[in-house]
Amino acid sequence: MTEWISLIRDVPDYPQPGILFKDITPLLADPAAFTTVVDDLAEGYSFDKVVGIEARGFILAAPVALRRGAGFVPVRKKGKLPAETLEASYDLEYGSATIEVHADAFAPGERVLVVDDVLATGGTAAAAVDLVRRAGAEVVAVTFLMELSFLPGRERLPDLDVRALVTV
Ligand code: IMP
Repeated sequence: MTEWISLIRDVPDYPQPGILFKDITPLLADPAAFTTVVDDLAEGYSFDKVVGIEARGFILAAPVALRRGAGFVPVRKKGKLPAETLEASYDLEYGSATIEVHADAFAPGERVLVVDDVLATGGTAAAAVDLVRRAGAEVVAVTFLMELSFLPGRERLPDLDVRALVTV
């Protein structure tokens, strides 16, 4: 059931001219649609922890974790996590970005589901997978609400189970 797709709104020229931004806030405001999406993101996987990538990934990953009896782990932009961290950097169109996870976020060998809203170039998700592995855990799958079909994001996530609920 993917009627919720109509609740994703296109916002032209955000955050820059020429970009068509996929806005999920109308979907989040609809409790039935939000529940469906949360359940579909994790359906069929078993895991100990759910990683959410700042910031919209948090909104999806935390309810996935609660509904499935798993823990939630935030991956944040550099400088936001208070304790010892591991960091990973990746290239953006202009410049680079760095994300972090707490070094003690996982027990050795824990099974982890990584969740974010949009798979675009795949740089953010690839960096998050790298962090989880370096922190000693196993990535079970990487799941997204949406995949942008005109970008080769999946190629940045080789040998991983990658699920997108919709491709746009
Ligand atoms: P990537 O690293 O290029 O795959 O970009 C993915 C990140 O950018 C995700 O964390 C998304 O939240 C964000 N992102 C990219 N495009 C969009 C969009 O159209 N809507 C919402 N978020 C986006």
